[in-house]
Amino acid sequence: MNRPQHLCVFTAARIHTMDLGRPTASAVAVADGRIVSVGTLESMQPWLKRIPHTIDDRYAERVIFPGFVDPHTHLRVSGTFAGLNYVGPIDLGGQRALAPMATRDDVLGRIASLAKTPEIGADGRPAPILFWGYDPASQGGHLDRDLLDSISGTVPIWVCAYAPHIVYTNTPMLEITGVDDTSDFHGLGRYPDGRLNGWFVETGATAVAMRPVARSIYRPGFGRAALNRMSGIARDAGITTTADMGWGLDDFEREWADHQAAIEEDHIPLRVMLVPFEPTLNKKFGADALEFRESRARAGNDRLSVHGVKFINDGSYPSMTLKLGYPGYLDGEMGLTGEIPWEQVYERMLPYWNAGVQIHSHANGDATVDMTLDVLSRLQRTQPRFDHRFVIEHYCLSTPAQARRLAALGGMASVNAYFVKYRAQMHADAGFGPDRSEATARLGSLVAAGAQFAIHSDFNLVVTPLSPLSVAGIAVTRLAHDGETVLAPGERISLDRALRAITVDAAHILSRDHEIGSIEPGKLADFAVLADDPYECDPRSLGDIEVVDTVLAGESTQD
Ligand SMILES: [Zn+2]
Repeated sequence: MNRPQHLCVFTAARIHTMDLGRPTASAVAVADGRIVSVGTLESMQPWLKRIPHTIDDRYAERVIFPGFVDPHTHLRVSGTFAGLNYVGPIDLGGQRALAPMATRDDVLGRIASLAKTPEIGADGRPAPILFWGYDPASQGGHLDRDLLDSISGTVPIWVCAYAPHIVYTNTPMLEITGVDDTSDFHGLGRYPDGRLNGWFVETGATAVAMRPVARSIYRPGFGRAALNRMSGIARDAGITTTADMGWGLDDFEREWADHQAAIEEDHIPLRVMLVPFEPTLNKKFGADALEFRESRARAGNDRLSVHGVKFINDGSYPSMTLKLGYPGYLDGEMGLTGEIPWEQVYERMLPYWNAGVQIHSHANGDATVDMTLDVLSRLQRTQPRFDHRFVIEHYCLSTPAQARRLAALGGMASVNAYFVKYRAQMHADAGFGPDRSEATARLGSLVAAGAQFAIHSDFNLVVTPLSPLSVAGIAVTRLAHDGETVLAPGERISLDRALRAITVDAAHILSRDHEIGSIEPGKLADFAVLADDPYECDPRSLGDIEVVDTVLAGESTQD
């Protein structure tokens, strides 16, 4: 790369760089999408007297941060679900006009009213009606086949949970999926008497439930439209880079094409890293999976790239399907594993481990964290690796001993800390019990153990908003939903550590901290422009700080 020909210098009331050596500044010079100099207008004179430049004062009264990095989202697929009939408990803001619903009765009422006037398909029969957003914990418990049959025994009803680890169906819908009493596969739900209960749980089973309605969910143009809508929400939250932790859950080619079109033609204001989902990679490409991954990785660039590989080894926190150790759930459940049997996880990870690919492994429950650490330990014994950056995704319910073991094995955690505020109190009496719920997202234990970590949203496949600043505040205060109770106070972390977990440490989790996550010469010029300084405000109101703009590769995304 040649010496820059022209510099644009942004001035600010304060710049927080996340560079330990030069933590604050008041001017940043950019050229060719990258940062040239950071400091003050005086300190960068050696550059300014040699290279023509303009001074841009538009952020002179603002605070500049590195653009936020959310290392785990699902913008395309969740935006697509948001196009279905909504039955969720929270306001989706600009995503969807339908009002949120507080109770299961409200939800059943909406389902019943739509089931009265079904569309009639080409075969003369009622077409399935598709719903998304049900939240069993907050809306009053799981749905099931008999309950949905009581609404309609003729119109196929298909309800996907907000965290889409469960699909609920009635009898006509069950028939369309092709399963019957003789069917037997992982995640197919049954009543105690052995009858099918209409549940499809975890990715293998939900894929069976989705197959007959896939064309209605993934309609042409939906994916790209979803990306446009969701990336606007991400931009408004100050995010400039995110990783989609489930590339292939719909279709590798369609997803790649939608992202490419959204970035190149629609100019969505994000860098996106696509993380291939291993079970789909394995099903589709078998022994050629690594080769396919490598070929796509070569086609990537700094806006759209392929990163790592993703495994899912248990269920969801909000849908209460994660895998718990003793004493299990309040109602005696123990949760569900992912579609790869646990005894096969090591063999499935080994080729990626040996090839030097970074592994991201979803583990929500403490039993799953144990299994994952056992596998990581075995991988290390087989072929020791330094700087492998094996990441446990979510790390919702864990123990201090697991944090120490994770650190000792060189592993890291990408943690959903939104749940401390939005879910933990609810799950004290629904699902996990008080002890595990209050210790949701143990970031303090990770700090004490010396483990690297980031904070993510999983937006929008969990029942939370998207706001890196809010979740940083949650990590600092651990204030519960009631706004008063501090949950597991020893798990609180410092403000500085929390703000690193949404910037440079999140970039580190994605192996991109040499390019993004801090404001340093040579890095990509991605900034979040804020109305107030997070270091000077009450951590309880971090989420109220206005994101004024983001800058991507040196350009305002609002121009
Ligand atoms: Zn996810």
